[in-house]
Amino acid sequence: MRRVLIIGGGASGLAAAVSAARAGAKVAVLEHNRQIGKKLLVTGNGRCNLTNRDQSLSHYRGGSPEFIQKALNAFGLSETLELFHSLGVVIRDRDGYLYPYSDQASSVAEALRMEAEHYRVKLALNTEVQRICRENGRYLAETPGWTYEGDALILAAGSCAAPETGSDGSGYRFARAMGHTVIEPLPALVQLRSPDPAFPKLKGLRMEARVSLFSKERLLAEDRGEVQFTEYGLSGIPIFQVSRYGVKELHKGREVRVILNLLPFLKEEETEAFWEERIRIGSGKSAGQLLVGLFPKKMADCLLKRAGISADRPAAAFTDCEKKALLSACTAFEVKISACNGFDRAQVCCGGVDTREVNPETMESLQMPGLYFAGEILDVDGACGGYNLQWAWTSGWLAGYHSAETPRGIVMCEQ
Ligand SMILES: Cc1cc2nc3c(=O)[nH]c(=O)nc-3n(C[C@H](O)[C@H](O)[C@H](O)COP(=O)(O)OP(=O)(O)OC[C@H]3O[C@@H](n4cnc5c(N)ncnc54)[C@H](O)[C@@H]3O)c2cc1C
Repeated sequence: MRRVLIIGGGASGLAAAVSAARAGAKVAVLEHNRQIGKKLLVTGNGRCNLTNRDQSLSHYRGGSPEFIQKALNAFGLSETLELFHSLGVVIRDRDGYLYPYSDQASSVAEALRMEAEHYRVKLALNTEVQRICRENGRYLAETPGWTYEGDALILAAGSCAAPETGSDGSGYRFARAMGHTVIEPLPALVQLRSPDPAFPKLKGLRMEARVSLFSKERLLAEDRGEVQFTEYGLSGIPIFQVSRYGVKELHKGREVRVILNLLPFLKEEETEAFWEERIRIGSGKSAGQLLVGLFPKKMADCLLKRAGISADRPAAAFTDCEKKALLSACTAFEVKISACNGFDRAQVCCGGVDTREVNPETMESLQMPGLYFAGEILDVDGACGGYNLQWAWTSGWLAGYHSAETPRGIVMCEQ
């Protein structure tokens, strides 16, 4: 019987376990947590946004779009839906964002666990892999007191994002030990920090905005949605979506800034007319009063300060220059970015095992036969919206299925 070792009982490791076991392999999952799928449980605020109907490549990022596309062609959305159907997980569709009908991430982890147990997968919990190696064509995974042995080994140990869920970055160490290149992992889907002293005062605000992220004059990414203002800077889904581009630039020592358009409901060509009209009908008001009904007070104060206009200045007395300055403060609210939050606050990492060294259709190492990769350990990261879990299902399934094709087996021997 073909025997497969999997390091990591997260989303990708569990998908790999089910896939390898269904393909006829004898499988052991080595997981250092007391439970499987700890990160899976916190996804989607505990509801698990497990994939998305829109599978265009633009939602995936990483060193090689071709690698990602080939993998998604081999196991994509329809195969994922079939997988969950076969596991008994009914899907709830929220505008294309797909969740388990139960709205509980735990039911996804449970369905995978039940299927793995049905196929007699060994789920070795509290089992910390400390070292891996290959001897005489077989893989050894050393844990305190035991060495597991298999014909194939799947590295599904995650990244270093949210380390409290178990992904402490040890997978990268194992990949390097096997001769693989690891592109430096950096936090992604993460909050952005700013030295701007206005932020402590803006703390707690949530505002709809168009977010544009620039490195010097180069526009790198854009998104729209609810931005959250925090004591240290910016958070919220649209900030998460653009963050990895900023993080990479900061890492190279480049300047990064975010421009917020706080009037995103207007088309560019409508903005000036909207503003003129607002000033015309508010001609009896002060500058501060003019912004009432449009922005929260804390933001209005900040915008006036940025435009250099005092709150009691009559709107009727605005010069063209003042009108322009206030409009520009609203539509081009510039935020200098100095850093991002750390791995502990990031949902995923960008970077990881260089995909040029991995077969996109099987997830097998191109340099070490029988070694496979699955999930976030690879240099692939997705946007918010179910894309990171889709990547875990895709890569996990392919790795599991193809690793089962390698003949031979797992034995467990005392050291
Ligand atoms: C708060 C939060 C919310 C998220 N929400 C979503 C969402 O709604 N939709 C979405 O698509 N994505 C979401 N993500 C991202 C998604 O959860 C991850 O991309 C995905 O779980 C990665 O799966 P993985 O199997 O690669 O890694 P992990 O799930 O991290 O699994 C790796 C496993 O390996 C184990 N391990 C590591 N090292 C060792 C070792 N040396 N020995 C033994 N075991 C080891 C770890 O304990 C862990 O269980 C979210 C992430 C976070 C943090």
